[in-house]
Amino acid sequence: MRKRVFSGIQPSGDLHIGNYLGALRNWVKLQYDYESIFCIVDLHAVTVYQEPAELQAKIEEIAALFLAAGIDPKHSAIMVQSAVHGHAELAWMLTCVTPVGWLQRMTQFKAKAEAQETVGDGLLQYPVLMAADILLYQAAIVPVGDDQSQHMELTRDVAQRFNTLYGETFVVPATSLPSVGARVMGLDEPDKKMSKSAQGSGHAIALLDEPSVIRKKIMRATTDSNPAADFASLGAGVANLLTIFQAFSEWTDDQVKAHFSGMRYGDLKKQVAEAVVAGLEPLQKRYREIMAEPGYLKSVLNEGAERVSPIANATVELVKRRMGLYTKS
Ligand code: ATP
Ligand code: MG
Repeated sequence: MRKRVFSGIQPSGDLHIGNYLGALRNWVKLQYDYESIFCIVDLHAVTVYQEPAELQAKIEEIAALFLAAGIDPKHSAIMVQSAVHGHAELAWMLTCVTPVGWLQRMTQFKAKAEAQETVGDGLLQYPVLMAADILLYQAAIVPVGDDQSQHMELTRDVAQRFNTLYGETFVVPATSLPSVGARVMGLDEPDKKMSKSAQGSGHAIALLDEPSVIRKKIMRATTDSNPAADFASLGAGVANLLTIFQAFSEWTDDQVKAHFSGMRYGDLKKQVAEAVVAGLEPLQKRYREIMAEPGYLKSVLNEGAERVSPIANATVELVKRRMGLYTKS
């Protein structure tokens, strides 16, 4: 049997180039080597308040972006988390085997909780739900960005703890990071990762930004007090712009170094901007075509949920039997 891949993105804002380079593009590359499930994780998005109408619209927008990026729905399942009951159900069972101290240590919890006036319990539980998403499908490989490495560790710990307590039940999954672009930083604050939920118009490049907007954001990106690229002491902002260039161009380290060494920041930024504009153009074109087909997205999402539900149901039944919970059969 082919190994299974699972990964997801939250409909919590506009998808950006960090999501693309860290996750989505890697999914497209991996999909045919595995049985693949790609999920719009709406239950994760509501760990912080989402305006309901906007959330609904974002779910479809993100499905369209998965397709536009090259996920092939004939091969890979594209589905919404809340359409398959097993995610929430398994999350509860795993909550009961997860020490709360493990969750309180998570850096994403600490960072996101800091930004909230009232911290919902869901924010603390987030990594357990993520573990449930992955373990529900017995996924062996999870392609994510580097910011999710800690949650992946926790997923493995939860799987192992369950397996120890109740007997071999879950596949313990491995993380797959891209070689370039695993952590794209904010253009305005290059010490913070680019995030959908961050404020500030100059922070992220959205996948659907117009070329003129992309150019403007990159030209305004934070650099440092040097006038030109010096590879002996690259500041975080310039290093981030070069990572973005390298990810889109697929140049080697040596090519990037030879080309940009000593280049003034103004010229460097222009070249980075053109690489991003050209890299996103085909995706943006396909997105517009997909959005022009009414009913298509719903059919992809419904079909995806139908396809994966038997796998999810089988895992939930197995976990219930292992734990001694009530099962019909
Ligand atoms: P939010 O701010 O709402 O958490 P996000 O931008 O962090 O949004 P997620 O939906 O949490 O996006 O993550 C989706 C995928 O994108 C994950 O695999 C995550 O690791 C990856 N990812 C997120 N941000 C980056 C980034 N800056 N660089 C590379 N990968 C990223
Ligand atoms: Mg995130």
